[in-house]
Amino acid sequence: MAGEPQDDCLFCKIVRGQIPATIVRETETTVAFRDINPQAPTHVLVIPRVHHPDAASLAAAEPAIAADVLREAGEIAAEEKLEGYRVVFNTGSGAGQTVFHAHAHLLGGRGLHWPPG
Ligand code: 5GP
Ligand code: ZN
Repeated sequence: MAGEPQDDCLFCKIVRGQIPATIVRETETTVAFRDINPQAPTHVLVIPRVHHPDAASLAAAEPAIAADVLREAGEIAAEEKLEGYRVVFNTGSGAGQTVFHAHAHLLGGRGLHWPPG
């Protein structure tokens, strides 16, 4: 069923505490933790507790939780006192998505080029 935890999903395991992560913030609906391979001084992943394969699927099925993910990204950017930041949803393997549990990358703490690569 959509939203149900997946036994073979890395981020579902992080949500359940079965794989350790450096947690930054948690809410009833979201978990945010530091990326294991950071691409910027601040690189935090914000994920919904529920499993959906990508951000658009999450937004279609549970729009309030998609909003929670975005709001949390902003809260963390404020906590980390970022002057500017970028929120990225890699979607599909062609765009570099490797974990198919919806997640926002929050990147900041360095100059961010536009357009991105
Ligand atoms: P994607 O490539 O799907 O957009 O992003 C997946 C992200 O998850 C990558 O930036 C990768 O470094 C991160 N990642 C993969 N495995 C782990 C892990 O076990 N722990 C943490 N904290 N991040 C991970
Ligand atoms: Zn999952």
